[in-house]
Amino acid sequence: MAVGGADEAPLAAGWGAEVEAFGLSLPATAGVLAGCAAVVGGDSGLVHLARAVGTPAVMLFGPTPATAHPDDAARIQLSVEGLACRPCSAHGPRRCPRGHHACLDRLEPNDVMGGLHAALDRGSCGR
Ligand code: SF4
Repeated sequence: MAVGGADEAPLAAGWGAEVEAFGLSLPATAGVLAGCAAVVGGDSGLVHLARAVGTPAVMLFGPTPATAHPDDAARIQLSVEGLACRPCSAHGPRRCPRGHHACLDRLEPNDVMGGLHAALDRGSCGR
């Protein structure tokens, strides 16, 4: 399932998501997220909303600081280690000021899958 704002729907074209939920109201989005086994996303309102409704999450930190949030055992945080420019913004710039977006491009799919398994394991303890 892919979830996001209405303007993000074109970005998800070709992902192959069986269900897409773009441009829903906040309560409807919360309901969708509450029904998910786990979510994966950036340091975004959607992932925070998922955690608010009790859904385990993998949060991918690109330009924003991973230390800005309180501890949460059911939120797995992933970021590229050793990248000198990271973090570069409290809320994330619309475009990478260095033009390469290595903070997200270098995140490995296998690490995300590992984080997802860990989130599912941890989340199942608290649900
Ligand atoms: S890769 Fe770009 S957007 Fe990411 S932290 Fe570095 S400067 Fe910021």
